[in-house]
Amino acid sequence: MTQAQDAGMGMPFGVERYDIVVVGAGFAGINMAVMLKRNGYENFVVLERADAVGGTWRDNHYPGAACDVPSHLYSFSFGPNPNWSRVFSPQNEIWEYQKQVVRDEGIEDKFLFGQDLLSATWDDEAHEWESRTTKGVFRSRFLVTATGNLSDPKYPDIEGIRDFGGVLMHSAAWDDDFDLTNLRVGVVGTGASAIQIVPQVQKGAGHLTVFQRSAPYVTPRHDRKYTAAEKRLFARVPGTIEELRSEMFWYNEGRFIERQAIPELLEETANVALDHLAAQVSDPRLRAQLTPDYQIGCKRILKAQDYYPALTQDNVALETRPIERVEGSEVMLADGTRIELDVLVLATGFEASDPPVAHHITGRSGVVLSDQWQTGMQAFATTAVHNFPNLFILKGPHSGLGHNSIIYIIEAQVDYVLGALTYALQGNVEMIEVSQAAEDEYAKDLDSRAAGTVWVAGGCVNWYVDPRNGRLTTVWPDFAHSFRDENATFDPAPYRILHAALVAV
Ligand code: NAP
Repeated sequence: MTQAQDAGMGMPFGVERYDIVVVGAGFAGINMAVMLKRNGYENFVVLERADAVGGTWRDNHYPGAACDVPSHLYSFSFGPNPNWSRVFSPQNEIWEYQKQVVRDEGIEDKFLFGQDLLSATWDDEAHEWESRTTKGVFRSRFLVTATGNLSDPKYPDIEGIRDFGGVLMHSAAWDDDFDLTNLRVGVVGTGASAIQIVPQVQKGAGHLTVFQRSAPYVTPRHDRKYTAAEKRLFARVPGTIEELRSEMFWYNEGRFIERQAIPELLEETANVALDHLAAQVSDPRLRAQLTPDYQIGCKRILKAQDYYPALTQDNVALETRPIERVEGSEVMLADGTRIELDVLVLATGFEASDPPVAHHITGRSGVVLSDQWQTGMQAFATTAVHNFPNLFILKGPHSGLGHNSIIYIIEAQVDYVLGALTYALQGNVEMIEVSQAAEDEYAKDLDSRAAGTVWVAGGCVNWYVDPRNGRLTTVWPDFAHSFRDENATFDPAPYRILHAALVAV
């Protein structure tokens, strides 16, 4: 018997009760916890499946892992960090920053670890959520998911890959103790993760094969260390970090315009990438293989100084023939060529458009969220879904970003959820559920804004568009600042609201 099982009196024992349960302790879960605490809410808990906070920045510790958004912007507005070592800081520094924020805010006791969510079920009689994890049962009036869209590794649909005879590693599950020195390594994928891994692996591997299905656009990465004097300035002169953040933010906002597929702007940005390629790769055959055949911006525009040079090294082969299947320790290509490997690295991305957590959430009348979303995700204000009362989703539908800092988006969503929770908790609201009409209208508006953007019309296959319906569902199809303008302030108008007093009557 676990503590979750029935004690024989119709009531589970060992059930913990909270006003709010948050699931996930990455940037979004930490942000939610900070804002709940800062606003005087104590009766909440954050359930995390791993043994530490950090989310994707805890899990993605492959060699070379770093953020390609500048650190002073890729941090909380309420938690400036004068000590970032570089313009683009490495993974371990970002993870340390997250842990430091939790310590600084005095919220360590709000996180419970090793709590993998098995199910979250809406109880339509009690009007509360019951969340079952690998360790316990939690009942709460409100449920906030903060499980991220870059948290569950995606394995490619290649026959035999799971049975690869050598060592198989996904980029998000790197084994730091494994020594690649002198081994024959293959990397599948050429996205943001792969281009950071390849230059590091190339240095030690005996031979490296990079399996490229589509060539990415790679632009220069203007990285450098911050000097001690700069760090002192950031720490001592009020407003310096804010000013720098603002400069970085508005520069990035300018980059959204090209995503609307304005030909002159796309051409200008594409030229930056193609010039970078030409400057770093002199071999015309390799350059041709590395030249993308779709519009820039359709996939994430990558930043690297060391990716192309790594591909020109003697111990590296760029393989553009499609992979047919994996047999034992060999990767078999479509033309029958076999490549024997000791290690196969899958830098193949994440389950983003069909999030695994949605398969565990059951709302009104037994509706499972992933079933409701079987033709694609949608949510009102990117956070609320009909049939799922008292549930708020952080980093769910339409909340990814291709051109600016995702932390800005998370902060806006957290403000919205905080507004909703404050309205409900202080207004004696028992149940709050967005109307389907409002949700549908919201989704329709986003579809029309997405039409014609480079993500949809740029001639590539990307993880922003759901293959099940051809709709852009993982990314906000507009400026980041318009996300905040439209989605950060809670308004009860589109919600069906049930007050506790009315229920009791
Ligand atoms: P990704 O962008 O989804 O790239 C996956 C790669 O795997 C693509 O090159 C894809 O090829 C390839 N692939 C997938 N299935 C394949 C198959 N069956 N055969 C051959 N190739 C296959 O994944 P990611 O690089 O992990 O990046 C995901 C997201 O994480 C990024 O878009 C970004 O938001 C975030 N990220 C950010 C940073 C950062 O510095 N901020 C760093 C890493 C990741 P196709 O292109 O042909 O589909």
